[in-house]
Amino acid sequence: MNKLFINAGWVDARDGSTYDLVNPSTEELISKMAKAGLADAVLAIDAAAEAFKTWRHTTPYTRAEILKKAAAYLREHLGTIATDMVLETGKPFAEAKGEFAVAANLFEWYAEEGKRAYGKTIPTNRPDKRSSYIWQPMGVIGVITAWNFPAYNPARAWAAALAAGNTVVAKPAESTPLSAHHLLQALVQSGLPKGVINLVTGDAPAIGDAMLRDPRLKKISFTGSTRVGKILMDGASLTQTRLSLELGGNAPVLIFDDVDTDAIAKSASVARFRNNGQVCIAPQRFYVHKNIYSEFAAKLSKYVSQLKVGFGNEEGVQIGPLITKKQRDNVFELLEKSKKENARILTGGYIPDQLPKGYFVQPAVVTNLDQESSLAKQEIFGPILPLFSFDNLDDGIEKANNTEYGLAAYVFTNDLKTAIHAAERLEFGMVGINEWAPHGTELPFGGWKQSGQGHESGSEGLFEYLEKKLISIGGL
Ligand code: ADP
Repeated sequence: MNKLFINAGWVDARDGSTYDLVNPSTEELISKMAKAGLADAVLAIDAAAEAFKTWRHTTPYTRAEILKKAAAYLREHLGTIATDMVLETGKPFAEAKGEFAVAANLFEWYAEEGKRAYGKTIPTNRPDKRSSYIWQPMGVIGVITAWNFPAYNPARAWAAALAAGNTVVAKPAESTPLSAHHLLQALVQSGLPKGVINLVTGDAPAIGDAMLRDPRLKKISFTGSTRVGKILMDGASLTQTRLSLELGGNAPVLIFDDVDTDAIAKSASVARFRNNGQVCIAPQRFYVHKNIYSEFAAKLSKYVSQLKVGFGNEEGVQIGPLITKKQRDNVFELLEKSKKENARILTGGYIPDQLPKGYFVQPAVVTNLDQESSLAKQEIFGPILPLFSFDNLDDGIEKANNTEYGLAAYVFTNDLKTAIHAAERLEFGMVGINEWAPHGTELPFGGWKQSGQGHESGSEGLFEYLEKKLISIGGL
């Protein structure tokens, strides 16, 4: 579990480098991990390119058998593998288990969807000509993923890429390799042939470089920050490497004055702080109608102050630690900056007394903010809930859209007209109306503006890993 997986073998980095994998709940060492560099990434691409020669000719039915077995393996081992996710992320056990269950669903769903890569026959304007297009796998796919959902992020890209007939070089985040190892084990145990999937964790820029430079690697699927997404776009311009980018978000939530404020405040306290706010579609900028603002703020603070922070393997814990010290430093820096901007913290925003070790932060609710506040402009990726107010639909939409990001947005209202107008005018790739989870295995997940390009999950996610080929026959 502490090595790289290249050409069906668990190996050390070629230069013997390692890095420390740290438990964010205790700050203790979990394990020394092999640290891949450019040379290891090239070996992984070699293996994947060789494997593609035969894997591309397997039928979607053969690939489906393997993916379905892998789904069954994950379901069978949920309890044990989720424990490792808790170890490396600190997230509550139930969430870790739920995430692996979703990974299993993704494997199963793409096993079936791979059979539906239908082409098209197109009537032509000449009697002696017949034209159609088919979909073909691309080749080697590089999958670079973030740590916040260490099973879900890789699973949705691996499943679609493999179902489509590609081979994969996976680079999970350095802080969460164990969850990816379990996903990989599931596939390997289920008969995935040698070289079809390879895993290298380590020097991210070097691995990214190896992927971008190699013409055999046709596409990079990336989940992570807008900053790194842009680096990949720069690099890809040299080689025309295709990219799918799932980047940052700064999701607005519009809460109108016709809702049950208590119910929404309660569910918001859970939704906002799921995974400690380290979620790209996390509801983030809360715009509450001025008529219910004070009432909502009071109710919300009450619920947020009741959230239980602690070790993910303890019963009843809802919030674990942040993933790294750096991530926690960012949160405190943002809070300090906000205080200087006259923001008021209603609850939280400190290290809980009983948790001096580990990267814990008591969830915070912050008010006295406006559109110029740092908390309106910056992606937070931590346990802070900023509250703003709005006057009417036009004002709310304008404020919500005032961001460079365009991933998810949320609207709460009981008025159908308001819901439809808001949904249509919000400049975001996903809009949740009266719900906190506008995503699913079968739904296209993707962002507008600086939140990315392309889609993962759903049938759209399959076609991200296929190339369209026109075949035209003349002289008939
Ligand atoms: P986050 O802020 O969510 O950690 P990052 O964008 O820093 O997001 O990381 C997401 C993934 O991108 C991780 O697997 C990380 O190792 C990888 N990564 C970071 N820098 C680079 C880079 N220069 N090239 C390729 N991958 C990178």
